[in-house]
Amino acid sequence: MSDKRPRTIVAGNWKMHKTAADTVAYLERFLVRAPALPAEIEIVIAPPFPSLPAAEVMLRGTRVRLGAQTTHVILGHSERRAHCGETDASVNSKVRTALEQGLTPIVAVGETLEQRKAGRTDERVVAQIRAAFAGVRSDELRRVAIAYEPIWAIGTGENCDPAEADRVMAAIRGVLDGLDATPILYGGSMNAGNVASYMAQPNVNGGLVGGASLDPDGFAALVANAALA
Ligand code: PEP
Repeated sequence: MSDKRPRTIVAGNWKMHKTAADTVAYLERFLVRAPALPAEIEIVIAPPFPSLPAAEVMLRGTRVRLGAQTTHVILGHSERRAHCGETDASVNSKVRTALEQGLTPIVAVGETLEQRKAGRTDERVVAQIRAAFAGVRSDELRRVAIAYEPIWAIGTGENCDPAEADRVMAAIRGVLDGLDATPILYGGSMNAGNVASYMAQPNVNGGLVGGASLDPDGFAALVANAALA
């Protein structure tokens, strides 16, 4: 085990939400609040592709990192796997390319409700982790982040019990040498009210946040509460 603790990341995953104009309006408001948010939390906002140029201009020189195309890139999200033909092999190829290009991959893994009910959660996420990082050196694993996102918890309001999420995240951390210093984020109906209960868990190093990242004041409250645990 390395003595280097994983850093804390809270990332807003907007997916297809917000036009360029919406993005500017959001960031004008969020950036006023960002300097007062806990300094130890790495804040990432990942807007949809057409809004990236506007976001890049506004985030330049601020403490908020841009996701999707510059410093961080979300890979393997269940909606991409389900609707866009993303496979374990294509996720692996994108992870390796991102690392070559100096990007930080945030690799999402998670089980369906059917897999969970069949007792196959750990088997599923372990297989996804092994596939995503095939051929990635253990020193490179320090440059990635992982999001454990139970698919049944995404956008449903049915968040996973924090202790159970932590148990799965511990299993993920144990899959490969080098993951001891990798931030592992929880995703799935995380909000300002429940974030602290996740952050209190030993294996949770932040959140990948969908719906609750779409309002600037709400997301600022979530980031602030992430430091309360
Ligand atoms: C997501 O889409 O990655 C996500 C976690 O969404 P939500 O927070 O809305 O469940």
